[in-house]
Amino acid sequence: MTCDVNLAHFEKFNCFHSGHLIVNEDRKILFCNAYVTELTGFSVQVLIDSPISSLFTKASNIFIDSYVYPLLLKDKIVEEIQIKLTKSDDESVPIVINIIEDNKGLSYWSFYVCANRDKLQTELLKAKKELENKASELYNLATTDPLTGLLNRRELAVLGNKLINHANSDHSNLAMLCIDVDYFKRVNDAHGHQVGDQVLQNLAALLLENRHTDDLVARVGGEEFIILLSDITLENAHKITEDLRIKIAKHILSGVNITVSIGLVVSSKNQIVDYQSLHSTADNALYASKQNGRNRTTAVSYQI
Ligand code: GH3
Ligand code: MG
Ligand code: MG
Repeated sequence: MTCDVNLAHFEKFNCFHSGHLIVNEDRKILFCNAYVTELTGFSVQVLIDSPISSLFTKASNIFIDSYVYPLLLKDKIVEEIQIKLTKSDDESVPIVINIIEDNKGLSYWSFYVCANRDKLQTELLKAKKELENKASELYNLATTDPLTGLLNRRELAVLGNKLINHANSDHSNLAMLCIDVDYFKRVNDAHGHQVGDQVLQNLAALLLENRHTDDLVARVGGEEFIILLSDITLENAHKITEDLRIKIAKHILSGVNITVSIGLVVSSKNQIVDYQSLHSTADNALYASKQNGRNRTTAVSYQI
């Protein structure tokens, strides 16, 4: 087909470090600048009059036929499309193309290689992932106890306050268990600190195993644990606590038999509860369990 493009006008395109092509209605190349031949390794003689499809990979040609050309037909312009160029050595190069079409059916293609952009994006994504991992590592360090993986004292206060606010507005009741291992110093003395650590880890696992979905389980001191239960009656809370205490006493953790003393406090439905007084009431009840001989539960109602 004939064309009235004066190709001499396009000489200046040879100065660009980006690819420029003119393609006719039959999708054949009428012009390419020096960058195209340098990049692809195809000579001008090979490229001129060749179908534009000879420059792209199979997958890119499917994409060009099904998406790029229909869009060009409709809008006369296509912007920032990423496809792959094939070179004479069969290697492929990712490029970003922009195309405009005039009213004579000629299309003007301009592209640049985006391998560096891809590399930069991959590096940015990698850096983002690393930051996210670091943030989640820091979050875990700030909120959990490193020995047992349970919530730490600070996070228990944060989540506990939320649970309490919820219960206060919901008029539901709460229970808090303060648990302290009996004579734990003797465990360390008899078996060594390392075995003591393992006993604490196994005890934490046992507490988690017996936890219900919304319960908060925390290690708040050396051998002291707190469990916060929501929406529970005094009777149920007492049963759960006693079951747990008996289970702990029956289990042999890392070759050691331990018992725990527990202070249990339960609020009633319409009480407005605050974290500090719930905690100190449970702590006093725990103290009573210790005073009365250990390996027991002292249950009290929450009093404002
Ligand atoms: P009581 O029945 O009165 O609670 O007696 P106890 O021996 O458990 O109480 P005490 O507070 O005198 O001792 C607690 C011991 O817990 C002292 C400490 O050596 C031990 N302990 C605290 N933190 C850790 C820990 O992280 N690992 C180990 N192995 N032992 C710990
Ligand atoms: Mg203690
Ligand atoms: Mg103790």
